[in-house]
Amino acid sequence: MVAESQPGHIDQIKQTNAGVVYRLIDQLGPVSRIDLSRLAQLAPASITKIVREMLEAHLVQELEIKEGGSRGRPAVGLIVETEAWHYLSLRISRGEIFIALRDLSGKEVVKECLALPLYAETPLLERIIVMVDEFFTRHQQKLERLTSMAITLPGIIDTVNGIVHSMPFYEDVKEMPLGRALAQHTGVPVYIQHDISAWTMAEALFGASRGARDVIQVVIDHNVGSGVITDGRLLHAGSSSLVEIGHTQVDPYGKRCYCGNHGCLETIASVESILELAQRRLGQSMTSTLHGQPLTVDSLCRAALQGDLLARDVISGVGAHVGRILAIMVNLFNPQKILIGSPLNGAEEILFPAVADSIRQQALPAYSRHITVERTQFSNEGTMAGAALVKDAMYSGSLLIRLLQG
Ligand SMILES: [Zn+2]
Repeated sequence: MVAESQPGHIDQIKQTNAGVVYRLIDQLGPVSRIDLSRLAQLAPASITKIVREMLEAHLVQELEIKEGGSRGRPAVGLIVETEAWHYLSLRISRGEIFIALRDLSGKEVVKECLALPLYAETPLLERIIVMVDEFFTRHQQKLERLTSMAITLPGIIDTVNGIVHSMPFYEDVKEMPLGRALAQHTGVPVYIQHDISAWTMAEALFGASRGARDVIQVVIDHNVGSGVITDGRLLHAGSSSLVEIGHTQVDPYGKRCYCGNHGCLETIASVESILELAQRRLGQSMTSTLHGQPLTVDSLCRAALQGDLLARDVISGVGAHVGRILAIMVNLFNPQKILIGSPLNGAEEILFPAVADSIRQQALPAYSRHITVERTQFSNEGTMAGAALVKDAMYSGSLLIRLLQG
């Protein structure tokens, strides 16, 4: 996160405890103070103090719990109060930006998808700041108290300092101080994360890997990358690292990649590369049903499902390439589940078995035997990934403490 000094030791404990209590109330509420004390393993006096501060700040509220048949006064439970607290969630994708105002429960208040051309006279940073300003102007009637901003994007990112070293598609971007510039401009903390890491967090918090201990999530889209949940936690959370499978070389003589190397997995398995390959093969095939219709991911998936050999071959080829890199990761992390997030999930009957076969052929049988390959719950659209960053900052206590201090 950008724009916050490091808390001292006592403050750190207070922050962690407050985060744990908020998380319990958010996930289990209505929940009583006695249950909170037991579940958080904190003394009742500590719970009373933390809860009082949250009540005064209007971050939680009391609710009478009706207990069937119990006599005396009704028990009081606590639930989170989220509607008056907003944050802005941004996502930059190839040629477009999604901007959404959400409340602290994650509910969308208003959202927009705007064009963000890959090339323009004005630098990308300035364009983003103008778009954020204009969004606030358009929707100021709906805006409650702004708590923070979350931004997810593809690229090589220093998440601690909010610096985007480089991005795919936006080739002019070099060392863009996106986090600091927006924090200074808006006066709220800015959480910035690679979109695949953030999406992995979103699936773990709200989606298909909720509650799972060990998961590898792979995204095959304009970018190729992965996130790893190991022992219930996102690997590299809070650091600037990413599990960069997309930039693992699979073809030493392959195309040059924006990261500086050649033949990265991303240059073979990104949707652009896949469509390029399909187009080349079409030039050599007279029989494919893909002739005479626009070549898109959707038409490719449809043709594959209808048995078109060329389309099937292209998609299972992608699965084999991705599976080869995944096999190495399976041997490292021994996950129960592989999640795949991709527009190619439209042909998951072909893609998933290709991935699974490739893993089984190349990973340790004892590890690969029980793995399931499943689809992500969310798609690579909208701003759910940013919502995970804000939720995580509330649960870790870092954002929560700022809101408690007013
Ligand atoms: Zn690369």
